[in-house]
Amino acid sequence: MLLPDYHIHTARCGHASGGMKEYVEQALTLGLKEIGFADHVPMYWLAEGDRDPELAMPECDLADYVAEIGKLRGLYPDITIRLGIEADYIPGYEEKLRRILERYRFDYVLGSVHYVDGWGFDNPAYIQRYETCDLDELYFRYFKLVRQAAQSRLFDIMAHPDLVKKFGFKPRCNLQVLYDETARVFAEAGVCVEINTAGLRVPAGEIYPAEGFLRACRNNGVPVTTGSDAHLPNQVGHQFDSALDLLTRVGYIKVALFNARKKILQNYEQNRSRNGYTGCF
Ligand code: ZN
Ligand code: FE
Ligand code: FE
Ligand code: ZN
Repeated sequence: MLLPDYHIHTARCGHASGGMKEYVEQALTLGLKEIGFADHVPMYWLAEGDRDPELAMPECDLADYVAEIGKLRGLYPDITIRLGIEADYIPGYEEKLRRILERYRFDYVLGSVHYVDGWGFDNPAYIQRYETCDLDELYFRYFKLVRQAAQSRLFDIMAHPDLVKKFGFKPRCNLQVLYDETARVFAEAGVCVEINTAGLRVPAGEIYPAEGFLRACRNNGVPVTTGSDAHLPNQVGHQFDSALDLLTRVGYIKVALFNARKKILQNYEQNRSRNGYTGCF
């Protein structure tokens, strides 16, 4: 498989399982050439005592996380292993996050919106709130936060950029308008958009982002990365065939790779034609 998996969690976050070696070995089994760990950043916006150990690693684990990836690189020279991190965007706490990110030599930072006005809308524990919330308002607020996150310049890649669809609750508003506006901001801010196959494993039943959103990104020249959001070793590279189909359908011929927060665009088609594919690029 030719696409990189840049969104892999570790047991440190308290809701993923398996050893880091198992994730790497699964990637090798699938024939991936490049992967990146992107575990959840410590909940920097909360006081130490308020941080949920089942949502993210404690701050004292961050150095070990970074060190373990360094060790894995030595153990597995046949695969490129990147040091990434998935960082929540919380308005008002930008400087705090910036200081954490400066401490280590990350290859890339995924920017995620998991909270809208303090509500962890993607957490099954708080799903009942959908019954009373105004979905149009929620989507409007969510996409506004995603744009703000992109503009913060804290992130290289916007992760699961329409995560708000996770549980399948759909608004009445015209989503394409939100997609177009958000894709324009991504382009201006110079961020990439992540194709994340975790959406196929939840009620939404489709990749993040929706095809219309990805088309808007393509039309605005926003580069893409790919990720499985694996929380189990056997989720590495999960349904990457679907990601590949979506990429080719929308007309992307390159994916972005990262080294020390510098982006390189790579044509993935070369590998594919070797496998007998004769696409129409
Ligand atoms: Zn997670
Ligand atoms: Fe996430
Ligand atoms: Fe994730
Ligand atoms: Zn994620």
